Amino acid sequence: MSAPFAAQTKAGVIDLVREDLRAFAGYSSARSHNVEGRVWLNANESPWSNPTDDAGALRRYPQPQPEALRARLAEVYGVRPEQLMIGRGSDEAIDLLVRALCRAEHDPVVIAPPVFGMYAVCARLQGAPLVEAPMRERPDGWMTDLAAMRDLAIARRAKIVFLCSPGNPTGELITLAAIRALAQALAGRALLVVDEAYIEYADTPSASSLIDDYPNVAVLRTLSKLHALAGARIGCLLADPALIDVLRRCQAPYPVPQPCADLAFRALEPAALAEAAVRAATIRAERERMLARLPQLDGVRRVYASAGNFLLARFDDAETVYRRLLAAGVVVRDMRATAGLGDALRITIGMPDENDAVFAALRPEEAAA
Ligand code: PMP
Repeated sequence: MSAPFAAQTKAGVIDLVREDLRAFAGYSSARSHNVEGRVWLNANESPWSNPTDDAGALRRYPQPQPEALRARLAEVYGVRPEQLMIGRGSDEAIDLLVRALCRAEHDPVVIAPPVFGMYAVCARLQGAPLVEAPMRERPDGWMTDLAAMRDLAIARRAKIVFLCSPGNPTGELITLAAIRALAQALAGRALLVVDEAYIEYADTPSASSLIDDYPNVAVLRTLSKLHALAGARIGCLLADPALIDVLRRCQAPYPVPQPCADLAFRALEPAALAEAAVRAATIRAERERMLARLPQLDGVRRVYASAGNFLLARFDDAETVYRRLLAAGVVVRDMRATAGLGDALRITIGMPDENDAVFAALRPEEAAA
């Protein structure tokens, strides 16, 4: 099935890009020309280093896509380097995708709320119509309505369908088989973007394995969560090389600061990855401990099982809980402005003692005992 399918859709992924950008050359930066030299006078840089720059490496503009980092990220994520674009967090990739594929007022984006807010924000900024297929809430948890997303995407001629798995804030995990089926249904019609910002906390394979057979699949990964580099702003888009190529031409000239690239490269060394895996296991164990204990507290209506590093919980009086936590110095994410989550808070899983601080704040008499 997959071979003829891939052949059929190979041209399709570029057809999804805005026609006016398909052949767009973008900005030709000083670093985009592959030349060798001894005296570099082509980028209007300073001949001196900044006195604060001990290594003297920062007076030069960085490589647009630092080669060693790109190769290492590709290896870690199981794709080829030409299938990977490094950006200023995965947020930048979301923005670039919407801008490159959607014409204002014409080409919709489909999302399943409640979901990470940046898909809607980027659609709004681009003037792309937003089509919503709300998630369903069932006795066993949240469920993205993939059939509704598919039908709406086809009926409204959407260019992008965003999935978030594990879902933020719901914690829902979408199976690879379900993602594959949706990719197939959308082949040649829409790009299926799977946001895997939290996948390291789940026990599931990445959708990046689909990209070779389904060029209309793109995957978002980030070093901001498990790898603890949110401040360095390194995220990736994994996608068909033709799509990566177009987006690179739409991207800012030097999107990856050199110190951030160096940090990211070190964070992907084997010892650091092994440490990250241990931390993922700790977060998972703490998540399950919180999931078991939180519902025992008074006033907790429901806590959803989660495949991410957070739990979504409903409360009888979320306002009081939020304020009690704040009074104890514990800041959680207030979800109450989100449709359908008027009684909900999202709690990131922290260190064991930080998680205990949540229980202590919600049961002060027990903590004092
Ligand atoms: N996707 C999801 C689902 C997120 O929750 C976040 C951050 N909260 C991002 C993407 C963006 O991550 P970053 O830009 O730091 O890579």
